Amino acid sequence: MILKSISKTAREAIKPPFTLEFPEEREDLVDNYRGIHKLDMQTCISCGACARICPNQCIDMVDTFTEKGVKKMPQVNLERCLFCADCEEVCPTHCLILTKDTSFEAFDRRDLIKRPEDLK
Ligand code: SF4
Ligand code: SF4
Repeated sequence: MILKSISKTAREAIKPPFTLEFPEEREDLVDNYRGIHKLDMQTCISCGACARICPNQCIDMVDTFTEKGVKKMPQVNLERCLFCADCEEVCPTHCLILTKDTSFEAFDRRDLIKRPEDLK
C-alpha cells in the first residue's frame, strides 16, 4: 500500500505542470469561444435592444460623447456577463459583437465595467 502511494507520488512529481505561465501563456481557444465585446460606435443607433434582452442586466445605456454629439450607448459589466451573445444577435446594425479577446483580467472589479469607448 505504502509502495503504491510512493510510486503514484513519484509519477505525479515528474509530470509537467498543468498550469500555464499566465499571462504570457494562454490556452488555445475553441472556434466558438466568446470573449469581450466590441462596439462600433459609428453604427450604433442607440436603440437599447442589447440592454433590454440581456438576461443578467449587465448592459446599461450611458451617455457617450461622439462626433455627432452625446448618444446613449451600451456599457457592459463583464463581471456579470454570461457571454451568451444575445446582445450580439439582437443588435439591428451588427455593431455589437463578441470577440475572442480574453484579456480583461482586473485587480479591481470596477475595471470590469467597460464603457462604450473601451469596447473598441
Ligand atoms: S453576452 Fe449575454 S450576458 Fe453578456 S452582455 Fe450580452 S446579453 Fe448580457
Ligand atoms: S449596440 Fe446595437 S442593440 Fe445595442 S444600442 Fe447599439 S444598435 Fe442597439
